[in-house]
Amino acid sequence: MRLLIVEDDPLIAVSLTQSLAPLGNTVEVFHRLSEARTALAHSQFDLVVLDLGLPDGSGLALLTEIRNRGNATPVLILTARDGVAERVQGLDAGADDYLTKPFSLPELQARVRALMRRSQQRTDNRLRFGPLCFDQKSGDVTLHGERLDLPRRELGLMEGLLLHAERIAPREQLIDRLFGFGEVGPNALEVYISRLRKRLSGSGVRIRTLRGLGYRLEDDPE
Ligand code: CA
Repeated sequence: MRLLIVEDDPLIAVSLTQSLAPLGNTVEVFHRLSEARTALAHSQFDLVVLDLGLPDGSGLALLTEIRNRGNATPVLILTARDGVAERVQGLDAGADDYLTKPFSLPELQARVRALMRRSQQRTDNRLRFGPLCFDQKSGDVTLHGERLDLPRRELGLMEGLLLHAERIAPREQLIDRLFGFGEVGPNALEVYISRLRKRLSGSGVRIRTLRGLGYRLEDDPE
C-alpha cells in the first residue's frame, strides 16, 4: 500500500509510520496541511490517515477539498476522545472511518485493512491472480501455494501489479508506490520488474510491458 499520514505530533507520526511501513508499504508523512495538500494534488495514495488538528488549519478542510474534486481515496481520521462533533463532521465530509486518540496500533492496522478491502471490493485480505496470492495481513506472497520470499520493494511492486491485474498498472503509480517522493534513477522500476519476471518465469503468469504506459500482469500460455 502507499499511505499518506498527516499528523503534526511527532511521536504519533513515528508510531503510525512504524506500524504501517512493514509488509511492503510505502508511507509518506507530512506534519502540515499545506504539505499534504500538495502531495494529494500530485500523487495517488491507497489511503490517507488524517489528523484533524493541524498547525496550519483543520484536516476537515483538506478532506472537503479532495472530495469536492472527486478524489475517492479512503480517509481515516484521527480525533480526540471527546470529539463527537468533530467525528460527525469528519464522516459527513467524506471520511471513511475514524480512530480516537489514544488508539491501539493493532486496531489501526485492522481498520486500514478493512478500508482497503472495502475500497478494492474484496471480502478478505488477499489479492489474487491465477496461481499468485498476496496476503495483505501477513505480507506473504505465494505462487502455486509455495511462499515467495520477496524483499520489500518487490513486495510493493507485486501488490501494485496485483491491484491492477489484467489491467495496466501505470508506470508512474508503480514508481510512486515503490519509491515515494524519493529520488529515483531512470531504470529503477525496470530493475525490480526484471527481478519479479525471473521469479514468475514458467509459472503461468507474466508481466507484460506496455511501452510508455506501464505493466500488466497476465496469463502466460507458454
Ligand atoms: Ca494534531
